[in-house]
Amino acid sequence: MNNKLFVMSAASGAGKTTLKDKVIGEFPDIVYSISATTRKPREGEVNGVHYFFKTKEEFEKLIKEDGLIEWNEVHGNYYGTPKFFVEDMLRQGKRVLFDLDVFGKVNFDKVYPDATGILIMPPSAEELERRLRGRGTDSEEVIQVRLANAKKEIEFAKTKGKYEYTIVNDDLEKAANELREILKLK
Ligand code: ADP
Ligand code: 5GP
Repeated sequence: MNNKLFVMSAASGAGKTTLKDKVIGEFPDIVYSISATTRKPREGEVNGVHYFFKTKEEFEKLIKEDGLIEWNEVHGNYYGTPKFFVEDMLRQGKRVLFDLDVFGKVNFDKVYPDATGILIMPPSAEELERRLRGRGTDSEEVIQVRLANAKKEIEFAKTKGKYEYTIVNDDLEKAANELREILKLK
C-alpha cells in the first residue's frame, strides 16, 4: 500500500466532499487533486478550486492529448484527473488525495496500483436520498440519476473495487476521525 496517494470514492451525497474539507487542512503535506469536468459549476463552486470546468470540446482535447490519468462519464458528465498536477506534486514530495467515482478508480489503479482506496458509505439508502435533497444543489432530475446510479456504484465498489478502508459516514465527527487516522499513515 502506498500512503502517498489516497483515493476516496462514494455514491454521490454520501458526504465525501464534507469529510475531505473538514480534515484536509490539518495535513499540510496533502494536496487535493482538482479534477476536470464538463459538469456546470454549482453555486459557490470556483474554477480551479473545486474543479477545472471545461466544455465538452475542451475535455475531449485533454483526452486526445493524453493529459488525463483516468477519466469517466459519471451521471451524464465527463470527469477526469489531470496528469500534470499529480506528477508535479509527487516531485515536490507532497501526498495527494483524489475523489474518483468507483469505475474511474479502476482505471486509476492501472497507473497507480498501490494507491490507498477509501470507500465512504452512507448509513442507508434513505439517508443518502435525504442528504442529496438536503444539499439543495441539484435538480430533481439530477437527484434521480444519482440515486439510480448509487446502488450500482456501491455494489461495484464492494465486489470489484479495491478499497483498503471503508468509512460509514453516519456521525460526521466519528467519520472525520476515521479519515484522519488513515491520512496519518505514512
Ligand atoms: P458528496 O461529496 O459525497 O457528494 P457532500 O459532502 O456534498 O457529498 O454531502 C452531501 C450532503 O450531506 C451535504 O448537504 C452535507 O452537508 C451532508 N452531510 C455530509 N455528511 C453528513 C453527516 N455525517 N451527517 C449528516 N449530513 C451530512
Ligand atoms: P460531483 O458532480 O458530485 O462533484 O461528482 C460526481 C462524481 O464524480 C463523484 O462520484 C466523484 O467521485 C466523481 N469524480 C470527481 N472527479 C473525478 C475524476 O477526476 N475522475 C473520476 N473518474 N470521477 C470523478
